Amino acid sequence: MPIEKNKVVTIEYTLRDPETKEIIDQSPEGKPLMFITGAGNIIPGLEKAIMEMDCGESKEILVKAEEAYGLKNEDAYQTVAKSDLQHIPDLKEGMVLYGQNAQGQQVQVVVSKIDDQNVTLDFNHPLAGKDLLFEVKVCDVRDATEEELAHGHVHAGEHDCGCGSDCGCKH
Ligand SMILES: [Zn+2]
Repeated sequence: MPIEKNKVVTIEYTLRDPETKEIIDQSPEGKPLMFITGAGNIIPGLEKAIMEMDCGESKEILVKAEEAYGLKNEDAYQTVAKSDLQHIPDLKEGMVLYGQNAQGQQVQVVVSKIDDQNVTLDFNHPLAGKDLLFEVKVCDVRDATEEELAHGHVHAGEHDCGCGSDCGCKH
């Protein structure tokens, strides 16, 4: 029976590069991922495929880049003077740098190209433009509570939801 909208789904997953089979990410042992269906918590292609699954089922799901983190946006490159980055030791192509954007959120940028004068930074998501192979097990499906639906996230687990209200949710 397909999973409907507004359910809290618990999954264990392993994410691999479809070509090299190298593990990119996985749910930590004993800490499965929980999300609300229809709330945009996870990438659309994965959610769509999981909603076709049954509780307890395991499946391999190939998600195309377009339905994962999107294609690379050519406007998301920025060129800066090499001298602006001289505080970073061993700067090289492919290196991942961390900074903050204007909203104070942490952003990851990849050093895309270095020439004599300039450095080109790639602000795309590191997985943009990539097809992703997931191995997913659906561990649990339950109804989302009204509060969860109002916040748009699951109230369980251990990380701080950051919703800033006194909802008392510790997750
Ligand atoms: Zn909350």
